[in-house]
Amino acid sequence: MAPSGSRSIKKGCQRVLYWIPVLFIALIVAWSYYAYVLQLCIESIEDTGEKVIYLLVYHVIFIMFVWAYWQTIFTRPMNPLKEFHLSYSDKELLEREDRGESQQEILRRIAKDLPIYTRTNSGAIRFCDRCQLLKPDRCHHCSVCDKCILKMDHHCPWVNNCVGFSNYKFFMLFLAYSLLYCLFITATDLQYFIKFWTNSLPDTQAKFHILFLFFSASMFSVSLASLFIYHCWLVCKNRSTLEAVRSPVFRHGIDKNGFSLGCSKNFRQVFGDELKYWPIPVFSSLGDGCSFPTCLVNLDPEQPSSPMGSNPASKGAAEGRQFPTKPLRESQSRLLTSTPSWTESDSATDKDRKGASNPGMTIENEA
Ligand SMILES: [Zn+2]
Ligand SMILES: [Zn+2]
Repeated sequence: MAPSGSRSIKKGCQRVLYWIPVLFIALIVAWSYYAYVLQLCIESIEDTGEKVIYLLVYHVIFIMFVWAYWQTIFTRPMNPLKEFHLSYSDKELLEREDRGESQQEILRRIAKDLPIYTRTNSGAIRFCDRCQLLKPDRCHHCSVCDKCILKMDHHCPWVNNCVGFSNYKFFMLFLAYSLLYCLFITATDLQYFIKFWTNSLPDTQAKFHILFLFFSASMFSVSLASLFIYHCWLVCKNRSTLEAVRSPVFRHGIDKNGFSLGCSKNFRQVFGDELKYWPIPVFSSLGDGCSFPTCLVNLDPEQPSSPMGSNPASKGAAEGRQFPTKPLRESQSRLLTSTPSWTESDSATDKDRKGASNPGMTIENEA
């Protein structure tokens, strides 16, 4: 009893410690709010027009930034659907086999019914021992969260959360708005920063807030800009941070561009079909996080059905398969067609159609 008790205390302490970076950021943001709004705008700026404009723009950026940060922190990472978990009988079967090859044989049989295209470096089915599941494409086990995370990008200590399929858009917006926040402060604080050095600011404590505000905002701007540009490049190439470090392995071999559909479609996969939702921290990413369109699927001779097909749902139904009858949502399949559509979402009608054509469908979409 004692070891498990001490282990849970240790875990509890760890969980508290993980919040320290988030608290650190929150304190800096709170101080920056006080320094900018009270010390700079209200105390130091004399021109009313300038004051009002600065305060208005500042608050819009501040709200968007805090909203995106909040969403990145508190959106739970998505885990693989139950279809990817081993059934009780499969678990027993796997435990009985001690040889790697016969275990692989069992896993390959299960994987046949799932939309899994990626493999380990040695060509084996990707299996998570800890979660007892077949890892969907782009899914990885996070040692901090102790869970398999869909389209895992990285575990971010600054948000104390895994960045993955469910919150990658929020993370991108968090980077964008925090960069905008720092750039705006740097730009509007510049003239008062210069006044500090020419001794033309009144001798109050506000001048030191103005000084440190400029230093911290410009410093954060540089690091945030590099991180934001890097992630824009990743989105453009349709790679996660993990995939940029180690390229995904498909049945036909390593392919670092295996999930790329072209820059604009790659952005749509993360930010959604409707431009109006792009800057807002609400979920609008396409897909279910378990399967991703890949233009190279057709090269895979063992792949049961192809998202490139004109009508994968009816094709799959004709063959009597269960899961791969529809490896991709309509929104994902649309990414594979050449015409971009910035139109209103037709997800409701899609759903009706899905229900009618495939009532036995068990995949849950995020909607
Ligand atoms: Zn796992
Ligand atoms: Zn994690």
